[in-house]
Amino acid sequence: MKKKLGRNDYCGCGSGRKYKHCCKDLPDELRTSWSELSVRERNLAFCRAIKGILGLDAGKTWLDIRREITEKQISDIYSFYSFIWPRETDIYSLLPKSDGRFRALYTGALDVRVIGLHALPMASLFSEFLIESPIINPNNVNPEFSPIKNPGKYKYQALKDIMFMLELEPYIGYGLINLIPDPSNFDLHLMRAMMDMATSRRGTVQSRKDFEAYTKLAIEDFLNSIHMMPRDVKIRSLVSDFGMPEYLAVQSIDTLDANAEASPLTMLQPIEPGDGGQLMQFSMSPNYEMSLFTAQVTGSVIVTDSESRWLEYQAAQHRQAGVASYPWNDIYGKLVRVPMDYHMLELYVKSQHHFTTSRSILELADKLVLADERNPKQLENLSDLIDRLNNKLGEIDTDEEAEFVNGDCKILVPDGGIHDNNVQRLLVRSGCLKYDDKVRSIYYVNLKV
Ligand SMILES: [Zn+2]
Repeated sequence: MKKKLGRNDYCGCGSGRKYKHCCKDLPDELRTSWSELSVRERNLAFCRAIKGILGLDAGKTWLDIRREITEKQISDIYSFYSFIWPRETDIYSLLPKSDGRFRALYTGALDVRVIGLHALPMASLFSEFLIESPIINPNNVNPEFSPIKNPGKYKYQALKDIMFMLELEPYIGYGLINLIPDPSNFDLHLMRAMMDMATSRRGTVQSRKDFEAYTKLAIEDFLNSIHMMPRDVKIRSLVSDFGMPEYLAVQSIDTLDANAEASPLTMLQPIEPGDGGQLMQFSMSPNYEMSLFTAQVTGSVIVTDSESRWLEYQAAQHRQAGVASYPWNDIYGKLVRVPMDYHMLELYVKSQHHFTTSRSILELADKLVLADERNPKQLENLSDLIDRLNNKLGEIDTDEEAEFVNGDCKILVPDGGIHDNNVQRLLVRSGCLKYDDKVRSIYYVNLKV
């Protein structure tokens, strides 16, 4: 099968890319599986199943779904998910491997309302962009919390999950992002060990900025889910559950009510809110441990817009006698204006012009880091290129600039990379045989609130 593929054929691994841009030059052990359905194919199958079950491919609209979605449909959708992602999945044969490609893994809020702010436009800058799937794998949860066994509790979460999948479907289809499941879904020892680590470090880093942004989303979720309840009940819950002053509660409810039909996540059927009622899950994923883990398994750099996460990584920088050093800072210190490709969100194609230049500069810089190249002449050449790019970006008028140049990007590239002893232990005990011994760099984009 491999021998018959032409350079311009779709690659046999199911990535959706041309063979020449995918597995052609990779040795067998670095290819993802050619015999199993790829991550991308499974995601696309899941999207097709969602549309079939809900009748979206037979004339139903999103408005209909919000009015009519049934427990049976929810149960069917998550059953399909558990069927395509069984616990015995050999996940490491499906994930991309460390092969020198300029690949990134995103960690941050996996929410359809904010995924387009930074994660998707940043995807344009890398050869491959990994986002973790927010879908809970029902194979790993108690029946009480299972969307298959208890779909009534999942109505609102299902609406969010479904919308997330359908919004991302074209980017998955065109190979612009790769929506991967959390590897610990298929390795319960890994999951337990990782949860223990996460619990024992709880409370270490908090970012006020993250907290405010996520609280805003949580309140909106709550209001969306209780839309069909009587007005005074809604006001009372906002006051008692979120400590909101009454005038503000009234204001929030009125604004939301006025926009209910147009707002895509407002539930248009009565559902039971609150504890014991709706299960709502907020994922800021992968967490600190799993982001390092997955980045090391897949040879990725990490991209985040979470300040808490960014602060956590600072502590994991490699240090020599207690001190971190930055041999590539002449380059990375200048890369503060990374373009955000919002055009790609509408066109499903990576933009050209400054984007092409930025992409190639970032990739060149990454190649130096990968090769541990510190030759001053080479660094200087790249530094000159960056000066030229920055000058060009400086000439763009400010309105346009605000659209696609993020003025507050930081890239952390310490000598020896970023690593954590606990995560190294997770890697050793996992079923993954080959992984990087560190993450080489972290890209931070400042969260817009
Ligand atoms: Zn391939």
